[in-house]
Amino acid sequence: MEPIRFEFDGFNHELIEKLCSKISKALEEYDFSGFLVGCTFEDYLSNEGKEILRKEFQPLIVRRLEESLGKKADYLRPDIEILINFNQDLVYFLVHSVYVKGRYKKYAKIYQTKHYCFRCKGSGCEECKGVGTLSNESVEELISKHLIPAFDAEGAKMHGAGREDADVRMLGNGREFVMQIISPKKRSVDLKWLEAKINNCEKEKIEVFGLEYCEKDYVVHIKSKKSRKVYRAKVVCEGPLEKTDIVIGKYEIKQRTPLRVLRRRPDLVRKKKAEVRSAHIEGNSLIIEIVADSGLYVKEFISGDNLRTKPSISEIIGTKCECVELDVIEIIEQESD
Ligand SMILES: [Zn+2]
Repeated sequence: MEPIRFEFDGFNHELIEKLCSKISKALEEYDFSGFLVGCTFEDYLSNEGKEILRKEFQPLIVRRLEESLGKKADYLRPDIEILINFNQDLVYFLVHSVYVKGRYKKYAKIYQTKHYCFRCKGSGCEECKGVGTLSNESVEELISKHLIPAFDAEGAKMHGAGREDADVRMLGNGREFVMQIISPKKRSVDLKWLEAKINNCEKEKIEVFGLEYCEKDYVVHIKSKKSRKVYRAKVVCEGPLEKTDIVIGKYEIKQRTPLRVLRRRPDLVRKKKAEVRSAHIEGNSLIIEIVADSGLYVKEFISGDNLRTKPSISEIIGTKCECVELDVIEIIEQESD
């Protein structure tokens, strides 16, 4: 929300009227309950002078604003902060985000969040046909395109409880997320209606469920949650496959950072646990179900990643294996520690 300018000609009754009418007009289209007022008084004033204004003048503005907005000042949980700067003769507005939590399933090969073009980093170039992003098909964007107009917001950002690769489907009980709705004019949208709208329009690619309003703190909560995941992997092996049950078992894995992410992540060894709980042959492929610790790179647990992951399915079977399809079929949530 843009700041508004006012003319200052002394701390008097007219100034209060002028400020309140400008602020009320600027907030006309905004739906909010509590607001907070903060003043920055002129730098040349003494600390005592500022203190007097804070104690005597600021409450007059707050009281007049309560009347003209028909809302209560709320210093604990304001929806909007009104910051009056007497050095600049500007009023700034800080519209607090609205947070909505839910779970998503992902059926298409798309990213979880918006990915900027590697070449232009978002400004638009030939590579990305001027749009700045790799595609407009991420879970974040498919949800945002319905959320932003519904809340009349400036933007939206997704916070996921972990993520999966673009080519991995997210099935089963779905993955938890929080959408942060930035600078919304509306704060109370019927979420059941929104959920139905998203699912109706995007059903080929994603599904969302359990949409509910939540507090900002919930973002930290889902980020700190540790969870194990159950994967279903389709594996292609170079050599012949006779016995599939040799892969079944529990493994303690030492995994060096995979070659494919080495450019972005530090090279270190992670210790993770995984259990292969079932295995069977389907056509020319081996289908396995793996219950894995959070943070295990599953594709590398299958291939072995040039012996950077030990043991691996390739090593156990004794022939080169590759994961050609991967689905998350369940997320087993554990409380954060
Ligand atoms: Zn580009």
